[in-house]
Amino acid sequence: MRVYISADMEGTAGVSGWEMCEPGGQDYEISRRLMVGEVNAAIAGAFSGGASSVFVNDSHDGMRTLPLDQLDPRAELLSGSPKPGSMVEGLSGEVDLMLCTGYHAMAGSPSTLAHTYNLTVQAVDLSGQPVGELGLNAYYAGSLGVPVVMVSGDQVLEAEAQDLLPWAHYARVKQAHGRYGALSLAAASAQAAIARAAEQAVRERARMQPLPPPANPELTVQFTNPGQAQVAAVCPGAERTAPLAVRFRHAQYSEVFRAFRTMVSLASGNR
Ligand SMILES: [Zn+2]
Repeated sequence: MRVYISADMEGTAGVSGWEMCEPGGQDYEISRRLMVGEVNAAIAGAFSGGASSVFVNDSHDGMRTLPLDQLDPRAELLSGSPKPGSMVEGLSGEVDLMLCTGYHAMAGSPSTLAHTYNLTVQAVDLSGQPVGELGLNAYYAGSLGVPVVMVSGDQVLEAEAQDLLPWAHYARVKQAHGRYGALSLAAASAQAAIARAAEQAVRERARMQPLPPPANPELTVQFTNPGQAQVAAVCPGAERTAPLAVRFRHAQYSEVFRAFRTMVSLASGNR
């Protein structure tokens, strides 16, 4: 049974500021250590629950965050950027289950370091439902028939996860205390909670469900300035519906996801 882990950093216990998430920033090396500790806990839990292989996708920022020499030797790591599929690169219908570690809630929410892919994005609406990284990625997995079965992060993301993925196990490793603060479990306790949730989730795979994307999905991205929306609308098939908003519709969710990646890439760098 193949398990895929999408590993982000901002939702890791103890991580509470941008400088902790950026190469060269203060305490970045501590954040990397905390992150790989949580990823290893998820790997260990997955194997205890019955996984035969674990594929980890480094899903944070430049995607060269996880130190390979500290990774559980039973797992494989995909790192590097840009990856067309970004946080879900390498995911396919061959994968049985997906786990999300170090995740945070959507842009505009009170989650610690909340954002959606990057800071050009103010909000994303998928066929009337506000979504963040968890939703965008879980629908992508669902379009391939892959269930998301375990998520870790703060209490704001927990509510998002309960809403989207009521079958999934959740490891709450911290309590958001404003955008730049968090009340965290000690690393060892956070890792124990993740290992437990991952093991249970993999063990209970028979009752897990892929999240089906809406039929004829319609995605609207609200950018933070009109220049970003202007260049994002260059994406073929995209339509600018308001000074800050760009819409994209397609029968296939995978195309909507590609358009989202394209729009955000185009918008980036336009302050
Ligand atoms: Zn993120």
